[in-house]
Amino acid sequence: MSFFKRLSGHLHTINRHRYLVMKMCFKCGMYYQGLTHDLSKYSFQEFWPSVRYYQGYRSPITKEKLTIGYSECWLHHKGRNKHHYEYWIDRHPKSEEMFVIRMPFRYMLESVIDRISASKVYNKDKYTENEPYEFFINSRDCACMNKQTAEDISKLLLYLKENGEKKALAYYKSLYKIHKNDREFTL
Ligand SMILES: [Zn+2]
Repeated sequence: MSFFKRLSGHLHTINRHRYLVMKMCFKCGMYYQGLTHDLSKYSFQEFWPSVRYYQGYRSPITKEKLTIGYSECWLHHKGRNKHHYEYWIDRHPKSEEMFVIRMPFRYMLESVIDRISASKVYNKDKYTENEPYEFFINSRDCACMNKQTAEDISKLLLYLKENGEKKALAYYKSLYKIHKNDREFTL
C-alpha cells in the first residue's frame, strides 16, 4: 500500500473512531473524556508508526507487534490513556507481585465505549451489537485484566447485546451519574 494511502487511511480511522467515541460519551454525559479520548494518537510517537503499519482491517499496533515483537506506539499510548486497563498495572516495589488495579468507573465506561466504537470502525457494515461482547469474552484481554474490571466490562457489553445501543447508552448514563467518581462500585 502506498504511503499516501496509509497516511489518509490512518487519519480517517482515528478521526472516525474519535468521532464515534465522542458521540457515545456525550450521550452518557461524559463530555471531557469524550473530547479528549485518544488525543495522544496524533503525537509524533504514535502517529508515524501507525501510518507505517497501517492495514485498515485491524489496529496497526497489532501489525507492529507481530512484525518487531513489540509496539512503541502502544507503550506510549497505554501509559497516557486511563481508559486502557494496562495503564492500571504496576509492580509492587518489594516483591514480584503485580498490582492489577480495578479500573475506576469513568475509565471503565470509556473503555466500553472505545470497544464498541473500534468494533464499528473495523467491522464496518458487518458490525452487530453482539460483536463487542463476543469479541471481549473470547479475547485475552478478558483473562489478563483485573477480575472485577473484566466482570464490569462484560456486564455492560452484554447489556448492549441484549438491549441494543439506544437503551444501553441510557443505562450507561444512569450509571455514570451515580458512579462517575467511584473507584469501588457495584453494578
Ligand atoms: Zn485508546
